[in-house]
Amino acid sequence: MRTISVFPSAKKIELLTRRDPTLDNNTTVKLRVIDVGVCGTDREIAEFKYGAAPAGSDSLVIGHECLAEVIETGSDVKTFKAGDLAVPIVRRPCDRPECVPCRAGRPDFCLTGEFTECGIKKRHGFMSDFIVIEERYLVPVPGSLRHLGVLTEPLSVAEKAIAQVWQMQDRLPWIASAEKEHTPLKGYHAVVLGAGPIGLLGAFLLVRAGFKTYVYSREAASSANARLAESIGAAYVPSTTVGPDDLVRTTGNIDVMYEATGVSAFSFKMLPCLGRNGIYIFTGIPGINAPIELDTDTLMKDIVLKNQVIFGTVNADKSAYKAAIADLADFVERWPEALSSLITVRCRPEDFDKVLLERKTGIKNVITFT
Ligand code: BGC
Repeated sequence: MRTISVFPSAKKIELLTRRDPTLDNNTTVKLRVIDVGVCGTDREIAEFKYGAAPAGSDSLVIGHECLAEVIETGSDVKTFKAGDLAVPIVRRPCDRPECVPCRAGRPDFCLTGEFTECGIKKRHGFMSDFIVIEERYLVPVPGSLRHLGVLTEPLSVAEKAIAQVWQMQDRLPWIASAEKEHTPLKGYHAVVLGAGPIGLLGAFLLVRAGFKTYVYSREAASSANARLAESIGAAYVPSTTVGPDDLVRTTGNIDVMYEATGVSAFSFKMLPCLGRNGIYIFTGIPGINAPIELDTDTLMKDIVLKNQVIFGTVNADKSAYKAAIADLADFVERWPEALSSLITVRCRPEDFDKVLLERKTGIKNVITFT
């Protein structure tokens, strides 16, 4: 089978032929990979800035945003049969007995840092024709999502983030009850920083929850990203022409600020715009650049006097994947064109350099294996 393999020490990336995998035991499932999405993490791994090969191997099969079709199941597999679609989850628990989150099935909160991640950290990923995965690490996907199910993993990151917003806003009973009763959060404002896939998918969730949602990003007002944001009812504000103070004058009190840029200088510059009782969520993972200066007195005063919450979130648990799949089905109904226009490039594995190595164009780029 074909695999896209990165050799971190030799600093090369190649389309390699490897032996097809076979079922390891009765609880594993063999799948044919359909689509694998490419994100900033993959591009960093392809530039040898991030990622690690499995122990004993000099290379890592990359790719962690995957949609695949079941072709064979072990005799104890209960929930999948040949022909079903599934998404494999990215992270696996560490094996330390004292790691309570991993033992509780939440490696996304691993305490030891010894978790592994498919296609990222010490475990092969999904850019290959076939994969074999334990049943418990697969999430079923309805056949209707064959063309868009590859968006599950990036949406799962947004789902975990927004789920935590609701948990934290339990401190504000009027918001918590609106969420529980599925009442639109009219009169509340959300700002999404960044118009890449994680930002735009976050905007889908925030718009649907009823927030007046603004997407604030560096792309021009005429860009495809801006048009997509506007087509789902968000307002697009270009950060190149509208400064943070003018943004706040437009939005009013910012109740939720959802960062999806991975640019720390920009993200911290936006922190003073967070409103009273506001929540600021960091989802981006920055490269390390020169330090910047911050007005920490004003920031700390605001955090306390405005009851603010600032948190970071990474990866996602199985329930966030399930929520992502249910919500993709909902978004297909509500905003079919917007959802499918998130995927801007589809290429074959042989052309991986176009989406992994060349200058990024488009919103979500996908490598199609079938
Ligand atoms: C992936 C996450 C992963 C994180 C850190 C992100 O690109 O979506 O699943 O936990 O990178 O490696």
